[in-house]
Amino acid sequence: MEKEKLGIYVHIPFCKSKCGYCDFCSHVPAKGEIDRYLNALMLHIQDFSGAAANYIVDTVYIGGGTPTLLDKKQMKLLTECIRTSFKLEKDAEFTVEANPGTVDKGYLRALLGMGINRISFGLQSASDRELRALGRIHTRDEFAESFKAARAAGFCNINVDLMYGIPYQSAESFAETLAFVKALDPEHVSVYGLKIEEGTRFYRERESLPLPDEETEYKMYRKAHSFLEAAGYKHYEISNFARPGFASRHNLRYWLDEKYLGFGVAAHSYFKNQRYAYVSDMEAYMLEMEHPQNMSAILSECSDIDVFTKETEYVMLRMRLFDGVLLHEYRNTFGKDFAKKYGEKLRRYVDGGFVKLDGVRCAFTVKGMYVSNYILSDILDF
Ligand code: SF4
Repeated sequence: MEKEKLGIYVHIPFCKSKCGYCDFCSHVPAKGEIDRYLNALMLHIQDFSGAAANYIVDTVYIGGGTPTLLDKKQMKLLTECIRTSFKLEKDAEFTVEANPGTVDKGYLRALLGMGINRISFGLQSASDRELRALGRIHTRDEFAESFKAARAAGFCNINVDLMYGIPYQSAESFAETLAFVKALDPEHVSVYGLKIEEGTRFYRERESLPLPDEETEYKMYRKAHSFLEAAGYKHYEISNFARPGFASRHNLRYWLDEKYLGFGVAAHSYFKNQRYAYVSDMEAYMLEMEHPQNMSAILSECSDIDVFTKETEYVMLRMRLFDGVLLHEYRNTFGKDFAKKYGEKLRRYVDGGFVKLDGVRCAFTVKGMYVSNYILSDILDF
């Protein structure tokens, strides 16, 4: 019998310095902290090898933070631990997030030798002024150097993360960033809008940040869509564009409601009909791994997925994809008619050109994608 597929996410919560907008679980490591965390993480991964014995892993994603702060030896230990704890598909997608300025050709070659076949670089902007405002550790040229080093090392699947709506950015400078990225020719581009999150430096400085206005932000989103589509990238999810055959298999699993196990502080899992996440408290996490007492004490959330939640999540996640909800699939899964259930609520969004609803699917238009959170919270009542 064919084994069920599973994804693995591993969180590395360390960065060289903290970017002004970042509310991810990451910090500058203290001396010796990476080794201690890595040890805890590997104990955690090994502990789940039995629970995942009946699954085959087809995607692995090491994210952060900046996973490439691990040196070659540490990364080798981690990747070997993943390989010996789980059964990996031969051509599993194996991604590592990297920050420009933390990698060179030798390091990248070593990653390739460990079976890592996809690199995701955080660029955010090709303007040095904007990069400085964000608090990034690299310049535009350093990014280009890291990108070229990844190509020279042999990586054939590279993602570049970009942001719009950042301090000092204009429609012109964003267009220049897109052109810069296109010239490098990555297989995948992610484009996120800046959100000012509580607890960040940007939040404290929010009144004085020189941010582009709402209209310019929308222009940038539209520009990303038209420019990247014209360059041969498919806009397959709200924030993601890929060359044919290079959509992120790991990220698709989140939107297609497929199983994954997360390891490390603040990592999320969806497994055996439960969603849960670990605490972001490093000390509590490491102590529990070193001296196991009560795993549930290091969960920050845990919920069983009942039919009602599953249906809501299904609509919410599928609608993130440009292909949207396939009406026959929805009917087969939930035994209901999508148009009957949501048609009335969707009417004004269809009339306004935000949503397309025909006999086959329901999906956002580009205009609708931009305000998808608002529309989804309206139709799903949350
Ligand atoms: S590199 Fe990424 S994870 Fe680290 S501080 Fe900056 S945005 Fe946050």
